[in-house]
Amino acid sequence: MKNVVSVYNTLSRTKEIFKPLNPPLVGLYVCGPTVYGDAHLGHARPAVTFDLVFRHLQHIGYKVRYVRNITDVGHLENDADEGEDKIAKKAKLDQLEPMEVVHYFTRRYHQDMDALNVLSPSIEPHASGHIIEQIQLIEQIIENGFAYSVNGSVYFDVLKYNNEHHYGKLSGRVLEDLLNNTRSLDGQDEKRNPFDFALWKKAQPEHIMRWPSPWSEGFPGWHLECSAMSARYLGNQFDIHGGGMDLMFPHHESEIAQSVAAHNTEPVNYWMHNNMITINGQKMGKSLGNFITLRQLFTGDHAALEQAYSPMTIRFFILQAHYRSTLDFSNEALQAAEKGLDRLLKAYALIPSLKAGEKSDSDVKRILDSCYQAMNDDFNSPIVIANLFEGVRIINSVSNNLESLTASDIDVLKSTFDTFVHDVLGLKADQANNINDDHKVGGLMELIIELRKNAREKKDFATSDKIRNMLSNLGIVLKDTREGTNWEIDK
Ligand code: ZN
Repeated sequence: MKNVVSVYNTLSRTKEIFKPLNPPLVGLYVCGPTVYGDAHLGHARPAVTFDLVFRHLQHIGYKVRYVRNITDVGHLENDADEGEDKIAKKAKLDQLEPMEVVHYFTRRYHQDMDALNVLSPSIEPHASGHIIEQIQLIEQIIENGFAYSVNGSVYFDVLKYNNEHHYGKLSGRVLEDLLNNTRSLDGQDEKRNPFDFALWKKAQPEHIMRWPSPWSEGFPGWHLECSAMSARYLGNQFDIHGGGMDLMFPHHESEIAQSVAAHNTEPVNYWMHNNMITINGQKMGKSLGNFITLRQLFTGDHAALEQAYSPMTIRFFILQAHYRSTLDFSNEALQAAEKGLDRLLKAYALIPSLKAGEKSDSDVKRILDSCYQAMNDDFNSPIVIANLFEGVRIINSVSNNLESLTASDIDVLKSTFDTFVHDVLGLKADQANNINDDHKVGGLMELIIELRKNAREKKDFATSDKIRNMLSNLGIVLKDTREGTNWEIDK
């Protein structure tokens, strides 16, 4: 493989040459959403970041098994060991079954990801579908002496683990500091130490989501599910584990501890963490009133938004920053991203109409090489984009007859844009603009209109109405005129 990729490993805090355990297969695990509400900007960043990693590794020839879970149980309020399950709480509020909440928001999450052109992962396991694996993992940890059960709950013994291993190696936290910063045990607490965390919790009578286990009828701890599901699909040791920086502690730190305690091997070779999105310099949060969902961004329906921003604008905005840098949201920044993306895609669309000249005034091969170099250097998308804009400048000059490119250099430019704009960065014209141009859609619509006309002529109004309604649900409106039936996308 001619492409050598380097990855910044959060665990070693160095940039390392990426070597998969079983090439060409790469195991990639990313913590997915807890599906009790609509996805927001904070969900879009890891989704787009690891989509970029997924796309690039595949582009350079790896076969990637990408596992991104759905958390549908065990994630309690404040990411703590006590309190209500986030999904059960929402279910109670809306008088729904917890799994209705999960289904509803999972579907909406997928719609949002599709809009952002985030590829579907290879496997999307639900935590509730892997209770057996989680119970087995707890049994193994108990057998190895790193967990204890009290009154039907099971806790991870952090102190004991830290005597033999290192709890805090990923996040750089020190156990003594943790001890000083955690509230002291109040005597009622079942834990031996306040920083011990739950692997299994006995369900209180009012707790709806519960499963039988050797210890009690209850539910698994949040950190446990990712250890169980990653091992199930990628093995006890796998290549890359990703997620947002906010998950590093305690979630990922505890994942390492659980896996080492159960299997006595380091679970992950490369840890990758994307940085956070701030809004006008502030952390995003429900209580801060600057909490914006992706749907609100797409429609502009939020007091902090001056306008709607298309999914591709959001994607481009995220890719304009390196994943390890913070990214500050503001209307100005998104408007700039919208303009930049428009320039990029317009130039891309001009390439087929460029007329070849006798000589080349610009070195376009260098742009292609620089894009590969940037992606191979810890997925540096902003440098890729800067290079593509050099391409935009050349395309516009050639198009205006200000400079010239040979036919073969135009091909190089085309392949650079196909590869990096389309395949690797995953940028495309937003769907609403695309559909009208698409000849295939035009042909299909002609066929559908013809079928509806036939139904109406046979007085089969049930069928003709069904066609109209189904199209209307897709946002396509039929208009009957004297000349025939027209269609348009309802915006
Ligand atoms: Zn996780």
